[in-house]
Amino acid sequence: MGDYKPLAGSNYFPLPRKLRDIGAIINPKNKAQKCFLYCILMSLHPIKTNPKRVTKYSKWIDEVKMGDVPFPVQLNKIPKIEKLNDFSINVFSFEDNEYFPLYVSDKVGAHHVNLMLLEKKGKNHYVYIKNLNRMLNALTKHNGKCFYCPRCLHRFSNKRLLKNHANDCAMRSPLRLKPTTIKHFNLRIGSTLEKYKES
Ligand SMILES: [Zn+2]
Repeated sequence: MGDYKPLAGSNYFPLPRKLRDIGAIINPKNKAQKCFLYCILMSLHPIKTNPKRVTKYSKWIDEVKMGDVPFPVQLNKIPKIEKLNDFSINVFSFEDNEYFPLYVSDKVGAHHVNLMLLEKKGKNHYVYIKNLNRMLNALTKHNGKCFYCPRCLHRFSNKRLLKNHANDCAMRSPLRLKPTTIKHFNLRIGSTLEKYKES
């Protein structure tokens, strides 16, 4: 076994076909390991034509305060970036046809960003989830619209049920994290999913 390597997203690789076909995700075609930054900018500045082309976001690049957080951005550095900026971030993963929360924010920011951290042949890459509901609905055979808890991804048949659940869910860490995902990503749960208190 090698040394512990914190999980971080770096350079472009194509989306798995299943995710590509849904049309709910934008995959930044980045180099220089800045996929995280471009995903945030994609969320702040939606672009209709060729949104995956990262040069389109260059003019806004200084809007995101990174402090001393280096690229590639590690999952456990996200709370620090949230503190420096007025947005909150959730990060999900996709494995065996299921989605799992990797990092769920406790912050209520002016703006919320959903990301996915993908893995391919030992490399990791952040992509931007433009439409979380559409992404999640594409996997279900359920007829009619479903509503998903943005923290634990639990599914509800109507908005009222989701609202009832939301307060309970905010009190605990995400439950649906799959053991193989943890192993797969070499995660230290304590460092990534512990509650990060805003002070
Ligand atoms: Zn929940």
